[in-house]
Amino acid sequence: MYAFAACCLGALILACSAGAFLSDDGTWRVHDMNRPQPPVVRAGTPSSEHGVGDAPSDALVLFDGTSLEAWTGKNDTPPWDIVNGAVVVAPGSGDMTTREVFDDIQYHMEWMVPADRKTSGQKGGNSGLFLMDRYEIQILDSHENKTYADGMAGSFYGQHPPAVNPARPKGTWNTYDIIFRAPRWDSEGALISPARATVFFNGVMVHDNQTFEGPTEPWKKNTPHGPAAIRLQDHDDPIHFRNIWVRKLNPRAQ
Ligand code: MG
Repeated sequence: MYAFAACCLGALILACSAGAFLSDDGTWRVHDMNRPQPPVVRAGTPSSEHGVGDAPSDALVLFDGTSLEAWTGKNDTPPWDIVNGAVVVAPGSGDMTTREVFDDIQYHMEWMVPADRKTSGQKGGNSGLFLMDRYEIQILDSHENKTYADGMAGSFYGQHPPAVNPARPKGTWNTYDIIFRAPRWDSEGALISPARATVFFNGVMVHDNQTFEGPTEPWKKNTPHGPAAIRLQDHDDPIHFRNIWVRKLNPRAQ
C-alpha cells in the first residue's frame, strides 16, 4: 500500500516536472502533444546477397540500376555503362557527376572492385566519391591490400585515415552511408564551419563528424562556394556502383 502510494507520488512528480521544462529551443514543453509530428518516411531495405535494397521513401534515387538520367559527364552525357544493374567506370571516359547540385546530405552508395582485378596499393582498384565536387572519400581495394593510411578506402584522401578498416574483398559489395555537412563562410569570406562528414563503411563508423581540411585536389582553393555536384572518379579502374540515393538535410544550427 505504502509502496503503491510512493510509486504514484513518484510518477506524479515526474509528470509535473516533465511539464515544467522547455525543449532546447524553448518552444515546446516536454511531452507537449501540440509539438508537430515528424514526417512519416517509409524505411528502405538494406541490400543483401539476394538483391539490391530500396531507398527510404523521401530519398532522391540517383541510380536504381536502370537509368543514368541523374548523371552527366564530358559532352553532357553520362560517360559510364550499366552492366547487370551496376554502373561501371569506363576507364578513360572521365568522371561522372550528378546533374543536380547539393550541400547538406545523407548519402548511400554501394561499390565493388571486380574479383578479377589485380590490385596493388593505389593501383587496380581505385575510384573516389567527391562530395560537393571537392571533398573526396576514397574508394579503393583495401582488403589485404596495403597503402598509405590516408589513401585507403574510407579515408578523406590525403587528410584523414578511416578509424578502422572494414573493407570487404574484391568481388563483394561495400556500402558507404554518409552524413555530409557543407562548409559555411561569413559574408567576408571567412570560414565559419568547414565541410564535415560522418561515415559508416559497411555499417562501421569510420569518421565521426570529421573535418575536411579543404578540397582534396590541391589545385582547388579553399574558397567560398555554393552547392555542387556529387562526383564519382574515373581512376582508370572498372569499379562498380549500385543503389545510390541521397536525402537532402536541413542546415544545422551554427
Ligand atoms: Mg581515388
